[in-house]
Amino acid sequence: MQEKDCLFCKIIRGEIPSAKVYEDEHVYAFLDIAPGFPGHCLVVPKNHCRNILDIDPKEAEHVVRAVQKIAPAVIKATGAEGFNVVQNNEEAAGQTVFHVHFHIIPRKKGDGMNLWTPSSYDSMEKMAETAQKIQAEIR
Ligand code: 5GP
Ligand code: ZN
Repeated sequence: MQEKDCLFCKIIRGEIPSAKVYEDEHVYAFLDIAPGFPGHCLVVPKNHCRNILDIDPKEAEHVVRAVQKIAPAVIKATGAEGFNVVQNNEEAAGQTVFHVHFHIIPRKKGDGMNLWTPSSYDSMEKMAETAQKIQAEIR
């Protein structure tokens, strides 16, 4: 199912142009219009869903398989030495398009991109307490 007003559903339907890199029955992939580096791709399921929590696991498998196909091609085509797979969920985490997507960002040593600034725990006890809190919430 697609959504009438979703940007990525419109791209999948061809209503908005995109630089396609891959398509199959389940997945569409295209270049990000504002890349971290040239070759930065977005891989999306054709079925609309908001984020990683509401994608059907079978659909997610198709998307991950597509990422595994596309990332080596991005590396070869761009001369990259590695890549990041980035997947943002909700506004606080930087999601701006609410149709789940995986970024493939080609990387080179020393390219200067930092995905996060490392912080620390006040103590090992705090770290263990945090792990326990998360464990207790897992359903
Ligand atoms: P998010 O921030 O939600 O993880 O990623 C959304 C991405 O979609 C952004 O990196 C942004 O540059 C890209 N984007 C937004 N609008 C368009 C568009 O019209 N075409 C393409 N190709 N990418 C877009
Ligand atoms: Zn959509």
